[in-house]
Amino acid sequence: MSKKSKAVCMLCGKPSGKSICDACAQRVQGEQLGKKSKEQKGKG
Ligand SMILES: [Zn+2]
Repeated sequence: MSKKSKAVCMLCGKPSGKSICDACAQRVQGEQLGKKSKEQKGKG
């Protein structure tokens, strides 16, 4: 089978030119930032 593999977001599965669409990329970045700030806060 010669099916053209369209690049889709591996997070939401939406057709995107990248493995991660801009929407998810921003979300991931935000989560990482939140994690960092949380870690800095210490035990909660
Ligand atoms: Zn996505």
